[in-house]
Formats: sequence, structure tokens, C-alpha cells
Amino acid sequence: MKPASTRRELPQALPLNRRSFLCAALAGAGGAAQVLRGADSPATAANRFSEPARELPLCDDADVIVCGGGPAGVAAALTAARAGARTRLFEVHGCLGGVWTAGLLTYIFDFDKPGLTAELKRKLDERDARRQKNPGRFVYDPETMKLLLEEMCGAAGVKTLLFSPVVAAYRNGQRLTTIVTESKSGREAWRAPVFVDATGDGDLGAQAGCGWDIGQGRDCPCQPMTLNALAVVRDAAALGGFMSFYPDEQPTHGTENFKQHLEAVEGFKREIKRAGFDPSYGHPTLFHVRDNLVMVMINHEYNIKPFDAAAVSEATIRARAEVQRIVRGLRALGGVWEGMQVVATAEQIGVRDGRRIHGRYTVTRDDLIAGARHADAVARVTFGADIHAASREQNKTETISHGGFKTKPYDIPLRALIAKDVDGLMMAGRCISGDFIAHASYRVTGDAVAMGEAAGTVAALAAKSRRLPHEVKWTEAAEWLRKSGLGS
Ligand SMILES: Cc1cc2nc3c(=O)[nH]c(=O)nc-3n(C[C@H](O)[C@H](O)[C@H](O)COP(=O)(O)OP(=O)(O)OC[C@H]3O[C@@H](n4cnc5c(N)ncnc54)[C@H](O)[C@@H]3O)c2cc1C
Repeated sequence: MKPASTRRELPQALPLNRRSFLCAALAGAGGAAQVLRGADSPATAANRFSEPARELPLCDDADVIVCGGGPAGVAAALTAARAGARTRLFEVHGCLGGVWTAGLLTYIFDFDKPGLTAELKRKLDERDARRQKNPGRFVYDPETMKLLLEEMCGAAGVKTLLFSPVVAAYRNGQRLTTIVTESKSGREAWRAPVFVDATGDGDLGAQAGCGWDIGQGRDCPCQPMTLNALAVVRDAAALGGFMSFYPDEQPTHGTENFKQHLEAVEGFKREIKRAGFDPSYGHPTLFHVRDNLVMVMINHEYNIKPFDAAAVSEATIRARAEVQRIVRGLRALGGVWEGMQVVATAEQIGVRDGRRIHGRYTVTRDDLIAGARHADAVARVTFGADIHAASREQNKTETISHGGFKTKPYDIPLRALIAKDVDGLMMAGRCISGDFIAHASYRVTGDAVAMGEAAGTVAALAAKSRRLPHEVKWTEAAEWLRKSGLGS
């Protein structure tokens, strides 16, 4: 959707009564100061700039506003719209899908669930865009995914605004009422009764004043970031031995299936070393996307906070150089690597650890060990803890740990999707309420979609009945999902 057409939908600019709003957070996109045309710069302390207050156009036409268009946000927006809520979806990048598309992930875990996950698989199959058809994990084509998500959101009536980061949030007392986006159209305010934070990094929750955690602590011993890339090769079949794949049964750690995957990883790593490189990710992975197209996941960037724009920029630039260096090195080996060439690096470096917004329940490591069950379960997670090394040193000895325990399938309760400190705000995907270890498990995309679907349903029911999300019983939402055919 072009921003210009959305602009036409904006009603006449209404003045915001600033006194009625508590400015909960002014943390903008990168905090960059914007100089107003024709305005004098006010006097400031050294290294500070006081930005003059402004009146913004205010749009008040949505029942549900979803921030972030990744797997969780798309699922939330689609479901809210299908439940009859007027829904707006804001996304920073130029496509929907988050790590699926802007992040060029190409691999999906824990997708063997009812509802939207089943619909997405069917629609990918109709477009011949899915390989290795294990019901829970498979390779998909990211360009097809982009178009599919846009078409599905369009058909459901979601009003999508791309290139539109959410940069501020305002409350009236405890209740979130208004967000601000900043795009080429300038700063714009948007009001709704219910919001969903699906930014992955918990931007909206933090802007609204919620408590949050990150990594193993605020100084961020965090999971590393990874910049994925697509490459073409002469003959994908010739790379078979180096290509990660999971045969149709569940590739549980320690089983024969998983051994085959590890052998492929080790073989690929040996080839990278033969080309003269020691990859920053000790578990380099190749996935066969289609024909002569492969996905390459070969780098780690350690201890970067996703909301530190300078650090993320440096990490992205370093990672892109490493990917190109290694692929050039492989190509120089000739043989099966002859002609290998990067065709696209991800628009967004893949972020594993972002803010975890405090909710009315916190999913913990103990839940994974016990296989927790909840009456308000919105998703059952079957994926174990996947903890990537926190430093280059650790990467040398243990690239990925599974926490030293066996995860039993466990439930995510609706309460973990409802903000504790701010009313009218839900979370879905990576930024729900959980501890470091639990997050290392439930963050995968099958669970993000299931959470988004639940958040979208509850948000729509709450908005349409003038209730807050925590006043909606999960049984009511589950019943709506069942009747609509979505949850079956
Ligand atoms: C390198 C890597 C490998 C992974 N491997 C797998 C795998 O093989 N299989 C699997 O299933 N999962 C995997 N994961 C995990 C999974 O991809 C993510 O955790 C998942 O994408 C979570 O979905 P999400 O919607 O919560 O977040 P995201 O996919 O991160 O989506 C968040 C969206 O919000 C947008 N956004 C962010 N801030 C703002 C803002 N302020 N305003 C507006 N929009 C905003 C982003 O641009 C993005 O589109 C991997 C993750 C990484 C990083």
C-alpha cells in the first residue's frame, strides 16, 4: 500500500489534548533529532537538543492496532480483521513477514498446529513454495511468502502501512490510547481501544512504559544476531551432503535424523575452513530453497542490543562482509562450489533476543521442564530451548546449548500475552512475557503465529465489546476461533 493512499484516509487533523495524555515514553526511532523547517533551534545544554512540541494529524478509525508485521503481527492483524475488527498494521520495513522475509530466514519450526499455521502451509503448497514437507518444520520461499502475506492481509481488510516505525506511545492514566509513527509522511498519531505489540523487540511496550527484560540481564549477555543471505549455486543436488535437511519424522536432538543434520553442518564448516575462514557461527547452515537457490546462515554478531542503532548498524555491516567473504572463498574452491554467488543479503539482521515485556504471567524454564498446562493455553510449544553462544569464545566450545534439560511440550497462557503495567496492550511473538530460557524455546515462528492468532482474536473481541483484553475469557476467544473454522 502506498503511504499516499493511506494519507487520504486520515481525517482532518485533530488537535491532541496533550494534558490528557501521559507521555509514557519518548524513545523514538533511534532518537534522531529532527529539525523543523523554519523553526529556530531552541537553546539547549551541550550535546542535547530540545525538540519543539508539535500538533500531529490524529487518525481514530481502528478497533485494533498491531505494531510489527512479522509472523506474530501478521497473524494478529489477520485474525483481528477476520473477527470483524477494523485493523491497522504498522511495519518498519517494505514487506510483511519480519524474520521470514526481511530476515530471509527460509526455515520454519514448530508449525504443526491448528488454525492459521495449517492455512499458511496449504497456501504455500498451492504456490509450490514449500520444501521438505514435514508438518512442523520446512523450507519456504521468502518472496512467495511476502506476496502471500500481503494478499491475505489485503483480503481480510487489514489496513497495512509499510515503512512506518512506531516511535512513541501515550497513555491516559494506565491505559494506552495513542501511538505515533514516523515515516516519509512525517509524524502521525493513531488511536485505538486495543493495541498489540508484535515488534519482536517490544518497542511498543517499552514506549508505553511497561517493565521489560532482555537477554540474561540489562547489560545484555544476549543471544547473537545473524544476517542471513540467499545465494545461487550451479547444482544444488551436488551440494546434498552439505545441505541441512530434516527428513519427515521429528528430528529430535540425539536421533538419527538430527545426526544427519549435524553431519551436513560439520561438512559445510569443514569446507568453509578449507576456504580459509573460521565462521563466527560455529553451526553454519545451508538450506535448499528451490532450484539453484540456497539460504546461507553462517555468522553470529555477539551481544548487540536491537535498540542500539549504531551497534546494529556495525553488526550488519560486519556480517554482510563476512557472508560475502566466505561465499567468495567457497566459490574460489571450485568443484561443487563453482559459480556460487550471493544474490541477496537480508534487509534486517536476524534478532534472536529483544525485550520481553512484563505480562500477567511469565513463562519460565520450569514450565519447559514440567510441561506446564494452563486453562487459558493459546499455544502448545514443542520446540526445545535453543541457546546460541553469547560470545565468540563460547562459540568455539558450545555454539548451541539446549539448557541441559529436556523440554516437555508446554503451554503459553493468554496471560503471558497481556501487559501487566499498561491496560489495552497485548504482546505476541518474541516480546511476550517470559524468562531468557523459555524465550529461547517459544520464539520460533510456529509459536509466534499461534500467539498472534490468539492476540488478534482477544484484541478484536475486547475492542468490539468495549472491554480490556484481560477482561476477555480465553474460552470465549477459543469458541470464536472454533466457530470461525480458524482454530480447527
Ligand atoms: C538468525 C535466526 C534464525 C532463526 N531460525 C529460526 C528457524 O529456523 N525457524 C523458526 O521458526 N524460527 C527461527 N528463528 C526465530 C524466529 O525467526 C523469530 O523469533 C520470529 O521471527 C518471531 O516472530 P515475531 O513476529 O515475534 O518477530 P519478527 O519476525 O522479528 O517480527 C517483528 C516485526 O516487527 C517490525 N518492527 C520492529 N520494530 C518496529 C517498530 N518500532 N514499528 C513497526 N514495526 C516494527 C519488524 O520489522 C518485523 O517485521 C530464528 C531467528 C533468527 C534471528
